[in-house]
Amino acid sequence: MRRVYLDNAATTYVSNEVLTEMLPIFNTTYGNPSSLHGFGRDAMAELDKARDRIAKAINCKPTEIYFTSGGTEANNWALIGLAMANRNKGNHIITSQIEHHSVLDSCKYLETQGFRVTYLPVDECGLVSIADLLHYLDQDTILVSIIGANNEIGTIQNIETIARICHEKNAIFHTDCVQALGAINLDVVGMDIDAMSISGHKVYGPKGIGALYLKSGIKINNLIHGGNQERGKRGGTNNVVGAVGMGKAVEIAVRDMSINNKKLRNMREFFISELNKRFTNFKINGHPAQKLPGLVNVSFEFIEGESILMMLDLAGIAVSTGSACSSNSLEQSHVLKAIGLPAEIGQGSIRISFGKSTTKDEVVYTLDQLEIIVKKLRDISPLTTKRSK
Ligand SMILES: *Cc1c(COP(=O)(O)O)cnc(C)c1O
Repeated sequence: MRRVYLDNAATTYVSNEVLTEMLPIFNTTYGNPSSLHGFGRDAMAELDKARDRIAKAINCKPTEIYFTSGGTEANNWALIGLAMANRNKGNHIITSQIEHHSVLDSCKYLETQGFRVTYLPVDECGLVSIADLLHYLDQDTILVSIIGANNEIGTIQNIETIARICHEKNAIFHTDCVQALGAINLDVVGMDIDAMSISGHKVYGPKGIGALYLKSGIKINNLIHGGNQERGKRGGTNNVVGAVGMGKAVEIAVRDMSINNKKLRNMREFFISELNKRFTNFKINGHPAQKLPGLVNVSFEFIEGESILMMLDLAGIAVSTGSACSSNSLEQSHVLKAIGLPAEIGQGSIRISFGKSTTKDEVVYTLDQLEIIVKKLRDISPLTTKRSK
């Protein structure tokens, strides 16, 4: 059976260029980078090279990059570590209602530890309002964390403006840029970002590796205790293979950004124009312009996203409903709820995320299958009215 992968926002394959760099680390440069002998030094040299590549890609110093086990750990660490270390300055944290669960659940945890958290609403396009941010920022606010590009609807925030406002009020600004990496230029100096989370497996690198960028001079408490790795801030033998893979993947993501974006944008616009030609009673979610180039979140009225997903799967096509992390629960996505999408429309949503290897032929096949599936589901849906097809 034909198989088409359109769930690149959930994860990507490891590209050949990345794999080629990783393979010798498994069994040749396998030393523990903390060891003092030659094997250790060789591994440390590889780790340093990976760190340098990531630092260069986001315009920071290599000593400002801390490897983690992924985006989730980087987000947990940023929220919990920064809140705890800066508690003497205040007790208030601001985030948004459309964060990844690793940020939202860290905030929920911080609330149990006595912190006050404001969850900023977003408009119907998924943008945080600057007026709201200004309204809630006060003397007590120590940390603001806003997602750079949303993983469900693709909306990209005005990160620079948000960073500037936070700094005017002396708050630390953290951003989850796991999805933004490779899609927009992330210059942490130019954008004045204090802390930023990124991950390897969303940019054709391996899973289980990520990084936190933390501007030098900013205090953070450890989340993982137990060793001098990562300059004493994150214990545990380094995932050298992962770091090497991520270093290469990030380098490539930035190197090829404009080519990839152009290709993805064309594919998305073709897909959307075909949706307009072939379907009725659907809605595209997220910002019309300020959005990830390869992501389409679309709601089909009268039917359920889960049913579409399963029928596409039978045709060999992989998409998702909402985010991969919440796909096991039947609850309405917190992101679609936050943009004000009525639950009965939100339940008919699927997320299609194209990748750098997606072909036009695959997109056409998907549209053809989608047309058959949506019609079939609507024919049996009790919600379908006469005017819909
Ligand atoms: C995937 C993702 C994460 C989590 O990263 P992992 O490396 O999978 O832990 C965090 N934030 C966003 C926006 C993501 O898309």
